[in-house]
Amino acid sequence: MSLEERRVVTRLSTPIDFDDDGKQCDFIRLPHSVHRSAYGYLPIPLVCIKNGDGPTVLLMSGNHGDEYEGQVTLSKLCQTLEPADINGRVIILPMANYPAALAGLRTSPIDGGNLNRSFPGQPDGTVTQQIAYYIQSELMERADYMLDLHSGGSSLDYVPSAILGGDLATETFARRLAMAEAFGAPFTFIFPAGPPSGVASESAVERSTLAFGTEMAGSGTVTPAALRICERGVRNVLAHLGVLDPRAYEAPETPTRLVRASDMKFFSYAPEVGLFEPVVELGDIVQAGQLAGRVHTPETPWRAPSEVRFEADGFVVCKRIPGRVERGDCVFHLGADFDPDAIQ
Ligand code: ZN
Repeated sequence: MSLEERRVVTRLSTPIDFDDDGKQCDFIRLPHSVHRSAYGYLPIPLVCIKNGDGPTVLLMSGNHGDEYEGQVTLSKLCQTLEPADINGRVIILPMANYPAALAGLRTSPIDGGNLNRSFPGQPDGTVTQQIAYYIQSELMERADYMLDLHSGGSSLDYVPSAILGGDLATETFARRLAMAEAFGAPFTFIFPAGPPSGVASESAVERSTLAFGTEMAGSGTVTPAALRICERGVRNVLAHLGVLDPRAYEAPETPTRLVRASDMKFFSYAPEVGLFEPVVELGDIVQAGQLAGRVHTPETPWRAPSEVRFEADGFVVCKRIPGRVERGDCVFHLGADFDPDAIQ
């Protein structure tokens, strides 16, 4: 089935006309027939602000429902951004995985779906797959640029970072990197390339929408410091793209530091079930072989703990929050300074 044929069978719709100038605040309606509401729909909030024929930017948060910094930032932007402020079109989707965001969960309580592993989605799939399909076929389709605001959520804490993945050798990488650096977070972090994993920004890039994301702290909460970086960053990207007046760009106190995890050696995992004792903190500089932490088994307290050791040199950009771990849980990941000019 071609993309055009599949598009017409999406079950989601919105009263918003994306071609209209002005500011429209409404919902995407996802038909959801359940015991308490036979003909009901899930109302996914959506704002479209348009002024003229400039570029279209899709701003998204709540892709993971327990990541709050972006949801607060985009809610504020919905209230403050007006058509006269912009040149082009800004589409704002603050609660992308609405059921998950409403519940404050990473994944949907309806179908267990992780929206950011579900792209490009399916028009006739689960609720989460239907949302992914609508975003890629109706919103990314219209967007020249996309910013997907994430954070560490309930289980991770990050140094505030703009992030991007994908192949560094592609011609669009430099433009995506320039967008991410314009965001002006303390760090701009590049993930290792890998096989397709269903994340939104990967799907956007495949559709020629220049995209990047963020990791804005986390720990299941919101801090004023992370929010300030996030709010300034969104406006800085809009200014960088000329959608806001370029003079609205607000330089960060210190230039963003470009770091990279070139492979999975930069990620440390719990080797077994137990209680994790970290021995380093976010921002610490570490070396391969250095102790990262210990996994204790207090249910057999006389047993020696298992050790977790770093497998790369770098500094700690992300750490796990909950103390209890299972084998396979990521407990830390690192980044190393990176020079994009070194890429052939
Ligand atoms: Zn996320």
